[in-house]
Amino acid sequence: MCAGSTDADKTFVLRTATSAMADCTFCGRPVEAHDPLYLSETPGGEPTSQFCNYGCLSAHVDAADLATGSACEWSPEQ
Ligand SMILES: [Zn+2]
Repeated sequence: MCAGSTDADKTFVLRTATSAMADCTFCGRPVEAHDPLYLSETPGGEPTSQFCNYGCLSAHVDAADLATGSACEWSPEQ
């Protein structure tokens, strides 16, 4: 069982957002020109970042090392 995640570090992927034009967090292009994804800390909340598509999201995760030390490897003692 995966025991590391907490309510404080959840991220939600939204398929729509209320904001107008936004630039991709990864590549800087306008996301509306593609198949945009938005990330938020709450379901239906304000987006904290946005990406053209899953490709840019995946590339951003790799580039920022966001997968390193993710929930299943994490423990409060570290
Ligand atoms: Zn992009």
